Amino acid sequence: MSQNQHNHETCKADLIDRAEKLCSSRGTKLTNQRRIVLQRIAESHNAVGAYEIIERMASMGARPAPITIYRALDFLLDHDLVHRVESRNAYIACTCNHATSQPILLVCAECGLVNEVYAPSAALAVQATTTALRFTAKKIVLEVTGICADCVA
Ligand SMILES: [Zn+2]
Ligand SMILES: [Zn+2]
Ligand SMILES: [Zn+2]
Repeated sequence: MSQNQHNHETCKADLIDRAEKLCSSRGTKLTNQRRIVLQRIAESHNAVGAYEIIERMASMGARPAPITIYRALDFLLDHDLVHRVESRNAYIACTCNHATSQPILLVCAECGLVNEVYAPSAALAVQATTTALRFTAKKIVLEVTGICADCVA
């Protein structure tokens, strides 16, 4: 998702709204702390590290203790509201619906932009492989590192 091809304020509001609904449908709560952490991550579609999340929060109020950030991140990760971007040791707010498909993450090595896209055949291929090996897949996160359209131009 290119930063200048969409209205990110609306995108961010939708994302928070969707997170609220998902939490209540699962009988849990997007507490204030969890919502704030999600909002700070969702400020852009670029992967953001835990330290940067703390800095963003500190610039807008009190500096949070790292443990509170990690607790909120654990919750957000558990519910697929954020994803860990392994190649960057960072996080990204989820923009997909995991109930219907397993998306893959396209990670730009230049600018850190992460585009979460549906790739059903990729997920099926992984599933076929794991099933054949009688390995029970619980979570499939496919991450592709490369150069985004903006950086290649
Ligand atoms: Zn956006
Ligand atoms: Zn997602
Ligand atoms: Zn890029």
